[in-house]
Amino acid sequence: MQQEDTAGAILHIDLEALAQNYRAICFQVAPTPVAAVVKADGYGIGAIPVARTLIAEGCRHFFVAHLSEAAALKPALPQGVALHILNGLHPGAENACAALGAIPVLNALDQIARWSATAQSLGRPLPAALQVDSGMSRLGLPAEEVATLLADPGLLDGIDLTLLMSHLACADDPADAFNARQTAAFEALARHFPHIPRSLDNSGGSFLPRPHFDLVRAGIALYGGAPTLGTNPMRPVIALTARTIQTRTVPAGTGVGYGLTHRTGRPTRIATIPVGYADGWPRHLGNRGAAYIGPHRVPIIGRISMDSLTLDVTDIPEALLRPGAPVELIGPRQSIDQVAADAGTIAYEILTGLGPRYARLYRGARPALRSMSA
Ligand SMILES: *Cc1c(COP(=O)(O)O)cnc(C)c1O
Repeated sequence: MQQEDTAGAILHIDLEALAQNYRAICFQVAPTPVAAVVKADGYGIGAIPVARTLIAEGCRHFFVAHLSEAAALKPALPQGVALHILNGLHPGAENACAALGAIPVLNALDQIARWSATAQSLGRPLPAALQVDSGMSRLGLPAEEVATLLADPGLLDGIDLTLLMSHLACADDPADAFNARQTAAFEALARHFPHIPRSLDNSGGSFLPRPHFDLVRAGIALYGGAPTLGTNPMRPVIALTARTIQTRTVPAGTGVGYGLTHRTGRPTRIATIPVGYADGWPRHLGNRGAAYIGPHRVPIIGRISMDSLTLDVTDIPEALLRPGAPVELIGPRQSIDQVAADAGTIAYEILTGLGPRYARLYRGARPALRSMSA
């Protein structure tokens, strides 16, 4: 049995489009090198196939959020490729991180103290990125704590600082004046660390009309999401296709789905497809949004169930409704940006919610990079 016959729906992943998006961002920010952010299993697309593809494109820096994600990805990376952990380390996780050879992003003074102590107990320098808060108030040392650090350089004993970073709060809107304020705040803090490479820009930051420091950290744009509100120059990377399980015709005035929240206004043909909120299809799309059958838009009617949803296919030619007929949920006619807008969310949430039950079919995969593997 093919996995596409046993799964509810098929997630098509175009690794060649991913590679093209990587090249497009590299071109955009040249000569700054581009790191790939592959947290949340590569935004739902698969961290390992994403990393393999981008290593072949010359990518040498990766970012995940958690030590557990680093542990899962590290064996797939060749020697010399840097793997950073954005959220840093919980107390007690330092030795595991050192043994793995991942690079924590140190976000606070207590994290710096523990990493320094770990380096000293192991008797060897340990690499780390240092995050400073340039205005987002989420992670990183505020200016006062940077001053504390500068006043006592011994706090960094044993730590080999390989990157100074911060994160933009409003980069998806190039017109937002806060971008320039954060950039200036970051530059001012970075002046205290003159020989450390600097990284500020995510996908949105890559499209700001200014230089991009020493490393860009691209996520969403690699995966085909819009880096900037309202325009999307990236190539779509995923398509999601389901197949109908069953169709039925009901009279006008019939209730559909849990709570009978949709009442048919005419004799209605309903198609049920095996994708629900447990697959990451947002429950907010009950009675909102649509799918496509061939070129035809078919509205979602009724609530989204855990494992299925219902479509109004009354106007669709019979030939397109045979059992197993393909239904496009994400694809050329319906982008992730459109699905996100219908659901009142952002493409990031649609991508990272893509469920483990989908059959993932990769296209454009490179052969494993044996010659580079450690
Ligand atoms: C997630 C994340 C990124 C990537 O952001 P995109 O908007 O997806 O490009 C970069 N840096 C940090 C610190 C992040 O948390």
